[in-house]
Amino acid sequence: MALLKSGRLSKADITDSPDLETLLASNSGTSVRLANDVDLETLAPRLSGLKTIEVEFPGYADGRGFSIARQLRRRYGFQGELVATGPLIPDQYAYLLQCGFDSVKVDDAVFERQGEDDWRNALDAFDLTYQRGYVIANGPSMNVLAARRAKRSDDLSAQYEGYDARRALEQAISHDYNGQIVLASSMGIDSAVLLHMVSEIDNRLPVLFLETGKHFKETLAYRDQLVARFGLTNFQSILPDATQLAEEDPDGILNQSDKDSCCNLRKVRPLDREITKYTARITGRKRYQTPERANMAILETGGRQVKLNPLASWTAKDVTSYMRLHDLPPHPLLALGFLSVGCEPCTTRVAEGEDPRAGRWRNSSKTECGIHYINGKWVPIEAERGTHEVF
Ligand code: SF4
Repeated sequence: MALLKSGRLSKADITDSPDLETLLASNSGTSVRLANDVDLETLAPRLSGLKTIEVEFPGYADGRGFSIARQLRRRYGFQGELVATGPLIPDQYAYLLQCGFDSVKVDDAVFERQGEDDWRNALDAFDLTYQRGYVIANGPSMNVLAARRAKRSDDLSAQYEGYDARRALEQAISHDYNGQIVLASSMGIDSAVLLHMVSEIDNRLPVLFLETGKHFKETLAYRDQLVARFGLTNFQSILPDATQLAEEDPDGILNQSDKDSCCNLRKVRPLDREITKYTARITGRKRYQTPERANMAILETGGRQVKLNPLASWTAKDVTSYMRLHDLPPHPLLALGFLSVGCEPCTTRVAEGEDPRAGRWRNSSKTECGIHYINGKWVPIEAERGTHEVF
């Protein structure tokens, strides 16, 4: 037998687990082997004591094992090792991992035909390790074969649908838009994720931050902390035009009388001035955020500027998990009840149960800054509400 984990052959001892009947007949045992017609309710009382569960796949076309794994992880919260066992093939590896398996046990005859390299290559070549569309209503559904087809497509946007966030960024930054792509960051609650990914790919990528002069001091400190930690060497704070500022908001209180004009002066025009130098921009928008974004492409082409949305299929939980995994510091205002952070005069805390962005421009119909292009031009906020990134 061979045991594969992360595409590599494990040197750990490979032992056979007892079947369910044997486990239930004894008072001890930390592993079990389940047939693919198992009634999981029978196993439930013993689950907390188990470290390893093997799930049998009698043939590679029999998919019941996938469903068992998903139920064990989601419904029963099983945290131990899940092993798929049977005549599986490398093409199934990514989906096995997505369903919650940790490793795959195949017999020697199968492994003889398709060895460690085949399994590892199948995983390396297939970037949708987490094909969210399959299990989360979070964008267009995509299975393994569809993703492979997408990657072979002549259409660039379709190809990106086969990439995970990291691969999409690498492909855009290092290949398709090399030297022509920019990231505009609000240094908000989620910002550390993209900044971290980008810094690992190319820390010289231009990163723009709108220095409106109205930010919380905590945001500015967070900005400095992230820029230093990630070693971003092309970080640029973008200021409003000094002449326009003196003419249109000499006392710095325009936000009290006309928020749209204030955003236009301090955000839209300064960003427009800088960002139009680039062919493509990276955004942190996610499909779950609004109904309008539900089918948003990872790579949006066709407008005046290409938009890359590498986190399109991410959930809020994915962001939290990534930050924990990489030990990224949270925005200091998160602990104080701010779930979306913008300029200080226009941001309030969010009460329990409120939309995360309810604290932005509270008591006003304004929900966006009007910063994104739609079909090659800046679209009025009213016309495209909900499709923009909030800065
Ligand atoms: S968010 Fe408020 S303070 Fe900031 S630019 Fe817009 S209106 Fe002005």
